[in-house]
Amino acid sequence: MSAVIPTYARADLAFVRGEGAYLETAEGEKYLDFGAGVAVVSLGHCHPALVAALTEQAGKLWHTSNLYHIPGQERLADRLADVTFADQVFFANSGAEAMECAIKMARKYHATNGNGERYRIITFEGAFHGRTLATIAAGGQSKHLEGFGPAVDGFDQVPLNDLDAVRAAITDETAAIAIEPLLGEGGILTVPWKFIRDLRTLADEHGILLIFDEVQTGIGRTGKLFAHEWSGVTPDIMGVAKGIGGGFPVGACLATKEAAVGLTAGTHGSTFGGNPLAMAVGNAVLDVVLAPGFLDHVSDMGTKLKQKLAGICDTYPTVIETIRGEGLMLGLRCKVPSQKLIDALFEERLLTVPAGDNVVRMLPPLTVEPEHVDLACERLETACGRVSSSAKEQTGV
Ligand SMILES: *Cc1c(COP(=O)(O)O)cnc(C)c1O
Repeated sequence: MSAVIPTYARADLAFVRGEGAYLETAEGEKYLDFGAGVAVVSLGHCHPALVAALTEQAGKLWHTSNLYHIPGQERLADRLADVTFADQVFFANSGAEAMECAIKMARKYHATNGNGERYRIITFEGAFHGRTLATIAAGGQSKHLEGFGPAVDGFDQVPLNDLDAVRAAITDETAAIAIEPLLGEGGILTVPWKFIRDLRTLADEHGILLIFDEVQTGIGRTGKLFAHEWSGVTPDIMGVAKGIGGGFPVGACLATKEAAVGLTAGTHGSTFGGNPLAMAVGNAVLDVVLAPGFLDHVSDMGTKLKQKLAGICDTYPTVIETIRGEGLMLGLRCKVPSQKLIDALFEERLLTVPAGDNVVRMLPPLTVEPEHVDLACERLETACGRVSSSAKEQTGV
């Protein structure tokens, strides 16, 4: 038995190299990767531009700490500010830390403005914001909270897409509302853009900050640089991670300068956050994602994949119930236990990711080409065929 603490239900597979949309085992078996390390490997495995940026930086300087200026950090923050609602950025190493910063920032904003009693944050059922003590409380899922009590105080959870419930949950102590514009871990649960707009209006009426968790949806995943762009409104604070590092751990909390007003010297920090290696990769990811035509490519591939998946759903209604999601963040809600389909897809050498609500997630690298989409769908059809005939044998119909 391995000495690794068994907190993960791992598939019996290990990979030793990757290139583009493919991963390879030590035995040389190639798998088509439509999970991309859970939406992290945004540009595919070992993208030449990222390998070059990382190795070049590795030969110059790895780490200095935030006791000094880090030019790559200033450059990435400026670039993110240029293309978003944000004026300022704090760098961390993960999605949970990005959201932890968002939560602290919202509390500090009100404290700085003389309203220290406003510390509570409204969150949504099915949400996922990370695995730290505060972010499991924000996510509110009993499977993540059990045994880790007492839960961090200050989160009020309401049903998704229920504006009256949000309105009813607002009190004099409410500091912020936090939402994923499209819920990833929860099962690719789409949020009507009107609901997002209504949250913006409600937040403004009550002097509440709006936080978007774009850890999974950000950096082009849905066909826009950030998913909230589909809604036409912007948040005050936004958590980003996963895709921004393309596989290197990078987290970022973006904010307007008003929202970030309380985060002055000494109020928050991270030893590793925004170190030269991470920033070299983050800037290289942005070079690719911001290049003309890149987001159109994501949208085109997303449309093609969704259409083909819809066809497979029609052919195998006993296996797949519906297809949902946006861009290259798609979910197959299953009729059979979703793990059964994921296992059948392993046998076809197609990697996918489980999610809540009995969903199989497809989160391919944003750089996938039409032939990858075609191949993934061929493999899915084969897997569906096998799963549906084994289901028939079991029920005898
Ligand atoms: C993955 C994820 C997180 C947590 O990110 P970690 O890097 O695992 O800490 C937070 N929010 C959302 C929406 C995520 O998908």
